[in-house]
Amino acid sequence: MNECIRIVSDIILSAGRERSVRRQHPWLLSGAVAREPGAAETGAWVRVVSSSGEVLGHGHYSPRSSIRVRLLAFGKEDPGEALLETRLDAAVNRRRNHRLLAGTNGLRLVNAESDGLPGLVVDQMGDVVVVKFLTAGMHARAERIARRLEAVTGAPHGYRRRDDTSARREGIPPDEGALWGSPPAEAAIDERGRRYAVDFMHGQKTGFYLDQRDSRDLVEGLAEGRRTLDAFSYTGGFAVAAGRGGAASLVLVDSSKAALKTALSNLAENAVECPIDVRRTDAFEALRAASAAGERFDLIVLDPPPLARSRRSVQAASRAYKDMLLHAFRCAAPSAFVLAFSCSHHIDPDLFQKIVFGAALDAERGVRWLRTLGAPPDHPFSIHHPEGRYLHGCLLEMESHAEAIP
Ligand code: SAH
Repeated sequence: MNECIRIVSDIILSAGRERSVRRQHPWLLSGAVAREPGAAETGAWVRVVSSSGEVLGHGHYSPRSSIRVRLLAFGKEDPGEALLETRLDAAVNRRRNHRLLAGTNGLRLVNAESDGLPGLVVDQMGDVVVVKFLTAGMHARAERIARRLEAVTGAPHGYRRRDDTSARREGIPPDEGALWGSPPAEAAIDERGRRYAVDFMHGQKTGFYLDQRDSRDLVEGLAEGRRTLDAFSYTGGFAVAAGRGGAASLVLVDSSKAALKTALSNLAENAVECPIDVRRTDAFEALRAASAAGERFDLIVLDPPPLARSRRSVQAASRAYKDMLLHAFRCAAPSAFVLAFSCSHHIDPDLFQKIVFGAALDAERGVRWLRTLGAPPDHPFSIHHPEGRYLHGCLLEMESHAEAIP
């Protein structure tokens, strides 16, 4: 028998504000709330109740956040105390032996809302499982979650990665450290033959951009004989793929010294032997300089950090993207492949496409959109939570030499 959850309090919605909960959106925003329990119940289970007294769902309470409740279950039924374990098992098992996720030991095991576990991100990097507890609710249940993850993954080490932004937003301590085992300083991933060292304690996100796996496959398949530019290279995810795929040469650009150092050792580890040029500088400036100097590339990857972190910054971000693309197009050789990405949820696919084509017009270069790119199947998004779709990308082909000359 599944034990009932221990509900401490009800949270009452304002009249007419139940629509998003009825549509099973996992976020209950503060503006919809008429009455709530208060700070003493941080992280506790709450029942979400309509103004007429109907129980609409159950979730974890975050009194400090503008997202007051992350709903884990909808309808009036008590979801039962074992819900968390059931969801964790399901998320991990869904990914096991999945055909689209084969050949790698670097996987996202839990993708928050899209796995029915808002506030929880779990990545496995070889022997190490890296966990982020992003909400008061998940923070309060950290030990239980760690115990279950250890059991269901069988991984020797678990590590809790801090996240200062969400800690501040949620009013929880930015804890970090071992969850089980004794995590080494670095993890190692073998992703379809590409080997990467991962600094999961200090690196970006949980140390590696697992979400670009399928696009790395694509780059590896396209790189043969191509002069390749990996802009915003981080630890060389794409550069390693291009090198293994037989790139003629590699230029890596990033502003982070530590990331580039790891990128070089990753390239060596993968026995990439073509000429390599590492530029530690602002990538927007580097692209401008490369186009001014008449440099030419046959394969360009543009994977900047999120430029639009809020709706307000969309316009400025759009300009920055367009500028980046404009200069990239200028240094793209005829028939070059260009992969461009945006990882801001606020830049939607339509806007992204407009920016890409706008930049091509300004550069007076013909481009064709060959393929739309995005996150792989261990980073799904749910129909109830479209905000989970953040990575937009495209594979472009520049017009050929013959087409370019009238
Ligand atoms: N392509 C990488 C991930 C890129 S993350 C991969 O697949 O692994 C974004 C990277 O951009 C980070 O490494 C960060 O150091 C770098 N960065 C951020 N702003 C930058 C700037 N203005 N110029 C150059 N690099 C920048």
